[in-house]
Amino acid sequence: MKRMKRLSVCFAVLAVLGGPSLAAAKPNVIVILTDDIGYGDVGCYGARPEQVRTPQIDRLAKEGLRFTDGHAPSSSCTPSRYSLLTGDYAFRNPRGWGVLPGDAPLAIRPGSITLPAMFRQAGYATGLVGKWHLGLAEGGDSIQWNGEIKPGPLEIGFDEAFFLPATNDRVPTVYVKDHRVVNLDPADPIRVCYDHRITDEPTGQDQLALATVLKGLPNKEHLDAITAGVSRIGFMSGGRKALWKDEEMCGVFLREALAFLEKHKNRPFFLYYAPHNIHEPRVPHPRFRGTSGVGVYGDQIQELDDAVGQVLQALDRLRLADNTLIVFSSDNGGTQWQGYDYGAAAAFNGHQVNGALRGTKATVYEGGTRVPLIVRWPGHVPAGQTSPALVSLTDLPASFARLLGVVLPEDAAVDSMDVLEALLGKSETGRRELFEHGGENRGALRDGNWKFINGQLFDLTTDLSESHNLTAQQPARARAMAARLEAIRTLKKTRP
Ligand code: CA
Repeated sequence: MKRMKRLSVCFAVLAVLGGPSLAAAKPNVIVILTDDIGYGDVGCYGARPEQVRTPQIDRLAKEGLRFTDGHAPSSSCTPSRYSLLTGDYAFRNPRGWGVLPGDAPLAIRPGSITLPAMFRQAGYATGLVGKWHLGLAEGGDSIQWNGEIKPGPLEIGFDEAFFLPATNDRVPTVYVKDHRVVNLDPADPIRVCYDHRITDEPTGQDQLALATVLKGLPNKEHLDAITAGVSRIGFMSGGRKALWKDEEMCGVFLREALAFLEKHKNRPFFLYYAPHNIHEPRVPHPRFRGTSGVGVYGDQIQELDDAVGQVLQALDRLRLADNTLIVFSSDNGGTQWQGYDYGAAAAFNGHQVNGALRGTKATVYEGGTRVPLIVRWPGHVPAGQTSPALVSLTDLPASFARLLGVVLPEDAAVDSMDVLEALLGKSETGRRELFEHGGENRGALRDGNWKFINGQLFDLTTDLSESHNLTAQQPARARAMAARLEAIRTLKKTRP
């Protein structure tokens, strides 16, 4: 109680401290967080047009500021999203740093100070559309799939939410609107469903099928269940049958995002739009199948690009573009690993998902966390330029706090740095130090352009692909960075 009281006192909107001009502007803010888009996956970061075409994301770069050293907080989904919303490094998550199942407990404490809570406090309408992957309620059987599902996104700062609980290869694959599963099948409202088949009396064998087909490793059988043209079943213990078609997911989330913009066009809003593209299983809408040069991987990028374009067009149509700050990025680096059988469409044809960077999703080489990051705010952020500043999505809470004139308590968003000047293109200096969180909770450390990882030391100034280990040449620097990496985990939890 003492802590809550303190937060309520400190968590005030102080426009003067935030800078009168910026706070007075109160731009709308849209954070577009894509899934598994790598550094080399879009045109403005080097993808070749015969492989992947992204004219809409490239438009964002042409009209905004493109960061060459922007980072996702982690190299995998859940920890990255945790840090973006809380401003805390993922190892501080009391519910665990790893990738969560679909029935995990809510990872963020209800009522805590988060990115959406800040915007709500500042008078914004706040909305989540897309992939959540941060748990619900107390997890397991505490989640009322047939009833009111809470606490969830609404209890950590969102006014409204339309989301997939985890990922599309983790049950349940259902849409949740605010506190309830929606899109229930009207033709079969009461029977219990235990996998992609329907049974009145579930047997042990059916439960086994659920475990192997929907919770197991991705395999051909799983993909068949998804793409057979039959609505897939969203299921968890006690859940009813819900309609689901993978190929519609991008469009459904886009529809909800556009509805949010229309609904809130006359007031400041914060939209966290987190498309599932291009996480596996990759099932693009037929409209995009075969449109890229690199199979379903590229088709899903082009589907995503089209969705981004429709958001931009909506802002133009609603005359909101000039007063809307957009952050476009990804939750981790790309991966060429494909757990599903996509048939002949699996060829990458030389496409480098992370460009020249070493490593992939789930590693802490630069390819794991360095991702596309573009900021557009017409008239406030320079257009068509690049920035070398080292910035992380972990920095959004502290940076937007200043934009809004919100004063954060010392014990909130403790790893978030105010890099607002860099994000707005007024400075080329971002962070000096960055902890890069890895897929197995390993970490790497950036100190300027020095990088320490797994006992290896690299100078990214001359060795962006992390190929030449300089530990033998610079043992003192390597020892110091190793010690610092260890120390970060035991640092006092206060903001830098
Ligand atoms: Ca991801």
